[in-house]
Amino acid sequence: MAKKNPISLEGAVMTDAGLNYKGVIMEPVVEKCEGCERVVSYENSTYCPTYAKPSAKWAKGSCNFATHTRNEADKAGKTKVNPLKASKRAARGR
Ligand code: SF4
Repeated sequence: MAKKNPISLEGAVMTDAGLNYKGVIMEPVVEKCEGCERVVSYENSTYCPTYAKPSAKWAKGSCNFATHTRNEADKAGKTKVNPLKASKRAARGR
């Protein structure tokens, strides 16, 4: 059974410039988005309602909204410091 996507691209319109969703041109998802639950199919492509430009998102490291790469990101050491741990550290320092 396929999981229902929490977000849809309802109201998106295909234009000459690309898929226009609420006034923003959406770029198709990139390879690294594969498996992410946020990916939404629209006509013959897949898009991310969270980020209009998934490629730009991944260019800076792992996408922090990805639902499928959390562990990989940790292993790669690319994720930012766990905010909870950081705040505990900060609290100890004071
Ligand atoms: S949330 Fe991130 S990983 Fe998921 S589809 Fe969007 S850009 Fe890709």
